[in-house]
Amino acid sequence: MNLRRLSQALALAVVSSGISFAVLRVIQHREGYKDTPILPGQKWHVHDSDRPYPKEVTPGAKMGDAPSDAVVLFDGTDLSKWTQGTGRRSGAPKWMVRDGYVQVAPGTGNLVSKEKFGDCQLHIEWQEDPSVTGHSQERGNSGVFLMGVFEVQVLDSYKDTTYADGQAGAIYGQWPPLVNPIRPEGQWNVYDIVFTAPKWNGGKLVEPAYETIFFNGVLVHNHQKLNGPSAHRAILPYSDPVSEGPILLQDHGPKEPLRFRNIWVRRLKDYDQP
Ligand code: MG
Repeated sequence: MNLRRLSQALALAVVSSGISFAVLRVIQHREGYKDTPILPGQKWHVHDSDRPYPKEVTPGAKMGDAPSDAVVLFDGTDLSKWTQGTGRRSGAPKWMVRDGYVQVAPGTGNLVSKEKFGDCQLHIEWQEDPSVTGHSQERGNSGVFLMGVFEVQVLDSYKDTTYADGQAGAIYGQWPPLVNPIRPEGQWNVYDIVFTAPKWNGGKLVEPAYETIFFNGVLVHNHQKLNGPSAHRAILPYSDPVSEGPILLQDHGPKEPLRFRNIWVRRLKDYDQP
């Protein structure tokens, strides 16, 4: 059997065994090298021909739309991915869905995702009511909590002042945003949050949590280390040895009827895990 026939037979066998042409193409043609240096801290050669190809993901049709590998928590229509509150007091969501957004029903409690997330990319949009009143922490206050305990502050910080580490885009009580790119009341703001969950070994913290946050496309935290869970007028240590938890949206009180929309999360994996 000559080489051409051999490759045809191999292709036929591969196809008939259920492996796709796309895989066949990869098997037949791998670019790269095996005679190059090993990369520091990795097992791969520079341009390694055996290195796995990343999984293909279809991006959203426009910026801000969920890509194909996202868990869509709220698409503007229903709250089936959420509960109201946690534990024995949890129940069906009472927040109001209309016109593609969900609005805080003040006094009913926090909105909590049913699914838990660790390392993730979170996209969420929020808008202050055009008729928002109040001042400082009482002006359209809410929050986006990673793992249910790490708060990225939501507040009307457009030409209104509060303490710096409590304004919109702050890692609450720890780090102010690097700049304040907030839009005025009645316009939509966007958070894109890259969250690295704390890591534990035998109940001992080995890596704290980190956040990188874009606020309306502007970087406001750059791989910032978190001291621990968020708190008001206090510093809390890491204490609960877990590495995932729910996304929690805060009901801060009676005067804060702000809105959220287009909420999606991507679970993040390390390199070379297609
Ligand atoms: Mg808050």
